[in-house]
Amino acid sequence: MADYEVDLFVIGGGSGGVRAARIAAEQGARVMVAEEYRLGGTCVIRGCVPKKLLVYASRFRGDFEDAAGFGWTVPQSSFDWATLIANKDREITRLEAAYGATLDEAGAKIVKSRAVLVDSHTVQLANGDRVRAAYILISTGAAPSYGDPIPGIEHAISSNEAFHLPEFPRRVVIQGGGYIAVEFAGIFAGLGAHVTLVYRGENILRGFDDDVRQHLRVEMEAHGIRVITGCRVAAIERAGAHFSVHLTGGNQLTADRVMFAVGRRPNVAKIGLEQTGVEIAKNGGVAVDEYSRTTVQNIYAVGDVTNRINLTPVAIREGHAFADTVFGGKPTAVDHTNVPTAVFSDPEIGTVGLTETQARARLARTDVYKAMFKPLKATLSGRDTTVLMKLVVEGRSDRVVGCHVVGEGAAEIAQVAAIAVKMGATKADFDATMALHPTAAEELVTMRKRTASYAREAAE
Ligand SMILES: Cc1cc2nc3c(=O)[nH]c(=O)nc-3n(C[C@H](O)[C@H](O)[C@H](O)COP(=O)(O)OP(=O)(O)OC[C@H]3O[C@@H](n4cnc5c(N)ncnc54)[C@H](O)[C@@H]3O)c2cc1C
Repeated sequence: MADYEVDLFVIGGGSGGVRAARIAAEQGARVMVAEEYRLGGTCVIRGCVPKKLLVYASRFRGDFEDAAGFGWTVPQSSFDWATLIANKDREITRLEAAYGATLDEAGAKIVKSRAVLVDSHTVQLANGDRVRAAYILISTGAAPSYGDPIPGIEHAISSNEAFHLPEFPRRVVIQGGGYIAVEFAGIFAGLGAHVTLVYRGENILRGFDDDVRQHLRVEMEAHGIRVITGCRVAAIERAGAHFSVHLTGGNQLTADRVMFAVGRRPNVAKIGLEQTGVEIAKNGGVAVDEYSRTTVQNIYAVGDVTNRINLTPVAIREGHAFADTVFGGKPTAVDHTNVPTAVFSDPEIGTVGLTETQARARLARTDVYKAMFKPLKATLSGRDTTVLMKLVVEGRSDRVVGCHVVGEGAAEIAQVAAIAVKMGATKADFDATMALHPTAAEELVTMRKRTASYAREAAE
C-alpha cells in the first residue's frame, strides 16, 4: 500500500464510518475520515440520540398526570422548549467531541470537508486537495426525502429542522406513517401540541406486525393524536404566521409547522460514483455484497447509503465487519436477520423477528400467542392504556420467530427477547423460564393458550 497516502479513506463520519475508521486504525491502517457536517452523523447529531432525549421530555406530561393516582399533588407544570433544545444541544456537542477523541486516540486523521470520488483510488476534498487511498469506504448515510413535489413544499420541515425549531409549535401536521413520523407525533403531542398525522396508506407503520400497527393507532388516538389515513398533503399555503394545509379529498388543516417524514434517500448523488463504476442497487442504495464490497474491488459501502436495514447498530456492525474483513484478516459478513427494532412512540413498540403476516407467508405452520392487558401502573393512575404482547411461533419446530410488544419499556424488553429469538429459543423454552413478577414482560413466558394457528395452504 506504499503508493497510497492512506490505506483507508472513509467518506462520512457517522455511525458506520467512525466505527470502520477506528477499528481499521487500531489494526494498524493509515486512515483518513472526511466529514462535511458534524462527526457522529445522523444518529448522534439529528437522529436516535436527540430524538430519544425529546421523547424523554415528552413523557413527563403523562408522568405528572399519573402521579395523582399515587397520592402526589404536582404543582402546575410548564414546559420550556428553549431550555430543552439548549440542553439537548449541549449533550450532542459533548458526544460529537467524544467521537473525535475516539478517532484521534485510534490514530485516524479527521478532515472536516466534503469528499468526492475522482477515481477508484482518489478522493477530492472541498479545497481541491486530492488523497490517494488503497481502500475507500462510502458511509455517507441518507437524507430526508419530501416525496413528490407539491405546491408550498418549501414551507415543510423534515426531522433535521424539527430538532432546532426556534419556537415550540402549538399545532403540528405531520405527513408520513413510518417510525420517524409516529415518534415525532408522540414528541410534539407529549410536549403539548395538537398533532395531526396524515398518511397516504391504509394504516401507520407499514412493515410492522398488523396487530402492533392497529394497537398503536388506537393508543395514539386515545391520547389525542389525530390520525388521518388514505390521504396526503396536497398543498401548503402560508397564512400569516401559520400555514393552511390542504389535503387530498378537500379537507384543510391549520398548522404552525408542517413536517414531512415520508422516507429517506441514500446519499449517493454527487459523490463521484459514476467516475468509479460503483453501481447502484434496485433499492436506490450503493450495491454491495455480504462483505459490503461494491462493484469496484477496493471500494466498500456501509450503513444507510446501502439502504439495507437503516439502523445505527446495523451501520456500526457493518463498519466493524468491513474493517475486520479488509484490515483484520478476518472476513466477516453481517447477519441481517432478527434485528430488533423499536419505535419510541407513546406507548413504545419493541419488536424482533417475523411479523404474523411474514410468518404465515413463509412457514408451513404458524402459531400465534397474544395477550392484551391493562398494566399494573394504570390501575392507580387511571391511564387509558393497554399493553400488547405477541409471540409468533413456527408451529412445526416450536421456535419463536417473532416477538412484538407495545407498552412501556417495550424497547428494553425487545432487546433482551432478541437474544432468545436469535438463539432459536422455542415456545417451550419461553414457558420453562420462570416469570419475573410483577412485570409486564412476564406475560411473554406465561402465555399458555394459543390464540390462533395457521397452515400455509401451498405447503400443506
Ligand atoms: C430522526 C431519526 C431518528 C432515528 N432514530 C433511530 C433510532 O432510534 N435507532 C436507530 O438504530 N436508528 C435510528 N435512526 C437511523 C440512524 O440514525 C441511521 O441508521 C444511522 O445514523 C446510519 O449511519 P451511517 O453511518 O450509515 O450514516 P450517517 O450517520 O447518516 O452518517 C453519514 C455522514 O456522512 C456525512 N457525509 C455525507 N456525504 C458526505 C461527503 N460527500 N463527504 C463527507 N461527509 C459526507 C454526513 O454529514 C453524515 O455525517 C434515526 C434516523 C433519523 C433521521
